[in-house]
Amino acid sequence: MSHVFPPPAPVAVPVVGGGSLPVHRIYCVGRNYADHAVEMGFTGREPPFFFMKPADAIVAVPEGETGRIDYPTLTANLHHEIELVVAIGTGGRNIAAADAPKHIWGYAVGLDMTRRDLQNEMKKQGRPWCIGKAFEQSAPIGPIVPIAKTGELLAGAITLAVNGNVKQQGDLKDLIWSVNETIEQLSAAWTLQPGDLIFTGTPAGVGAVVRGDVMEGAVAGLGSLKVAVQ
Ligand code: MN
Repeated sequence: MSHVFPPPAPVAVPVVGGGSLPVHRIYCVGRNYADHAVEMGFTGREPPFFFMKPADAIVAVPEGETGRIDYPTLTANLHHEIELVVAIGTGGRNIAAADAPKHIWGYAVGLDMTRRDLQNEMKKQGRPWCIGKAFEQSAPIGPIVPIAKTGELLAGAITLAVNGNVKQQGDLKDLIWSVNETIEQLSAAWTLQPGDLIFTGTPAGVGAVVRGDVMEGAVAGLGSLKVAVQ
């Protein structure tokens, strides 16, 4: 059967060393570092919760280049959230945390860009976060580094600077729900597929960016991700 119009090009993220990883879905974990949970007005280890972004929210930034995103509509408070992104290579459901590393293809540095004012308004009204989280260009991401190169990333600095000033500084070891636990919980709710990306949460220090700002995020072992807001 022929399509009634041409299908969109598949979304893919370049891989360090060659090739690209086709993206299936983007899952995101909310409030997964204690210090960020506190800055958002919460405490303690609540069960993990998830939201999603559409795959075409990805802005893939090749190694060594500066990505560009347009300041989105409807907001006056666009926030940066630097995150470790996990790329799933082998899908599955009800994956035990101990088996999770076998399902990981690699890792990347990502930004969960957030229209905070809209998200807060939706929270207040008990409505879905989509308008605050799942907009166009809301998921800039650097190249994917295979786990075969990095080994399991269990600790290491995660940072974000805006115009050279450090705003977010954390350590992967401080994730409330580890990557493996996150995969266990996610795969109980959804059947994970090859090409699923998981944004694992952000440390404290989230804040606003404006047009002209340049964000530079980094995760130890993965290099950096540079994105300009225009
Ligand atoms: Mn986030």
